[in-house]
Amino acid sequence: MADHSGAVADLVEQLGRLPGIGRKSAERLAFHLLRVSEQEALALSEAIRRVRQDVRYCQACFNLAESDLCAICSDPKRDTTRICVVEQPRDLMSLEQAGVFRGLYHVLLGRIAPLEGIGPDQLTIDPLVERVRTGNFVEIIMATNPTVEGDGTSLYISNLLSDFPVQITRLARGITAGSVLEYANREMIADALTGRQKL
Ligand SMILES: [Zn+2]
Repeated sequence: MADHSGAVADLVEQLGRLPGIGRKSAERLAFHLLRVSEQEALALSEAIRRVRQDVRYCQACFNLAESDLCAICSDPKRDTTRICVVEQPRDLMSLEQAGVFRGLYHVLLGRIAPLEGIGPDQLTIDPLVERVRTGNFVEIIMATNPTVEGDGTSLYISNLLSDFPVQITRLARGITAGSVLEYANREMIADALTGRQKL
């Protein structure tokens, strides 16, 4: 950019690559980081470094984890007979914040999206089928987002699981079609979970 050079321009450029951050916001953030104490600014870079070095996917459910298993899979108090299937770790967080579900999760890391070239083999569907095949589950709750692609993904998975002796349910449609779990409030999510229906 013309007005700033070197380090400042570099920071503005990096911030500007973040989703939802336009040029003006990137500049505002950069100048904010120059104004705050060095300690505060470096705490941000340290948090970014840690998240990239220490956070990985849980080997069981593909949630974010800081060791082989995530905090939920390693919690002995969780109900290990139920799996709630979500698209992304942030959907899992929304469901956890609602505080209704005490079982385990499975994070697909996306949804089937033919138009974007995302097929079932790019998601964590195989490990999910393997979990259901080898585990002692009584219920699999499909909690993909209520969008065309989320519904399609849910249907695809429930077909794959139809031969196993598990009940397959999905969240009640308390969440307006098209809205995503990430933006739904706690009450809506809690209602959708308690009112879940057989798929
Ligand atoms: Zn896990």
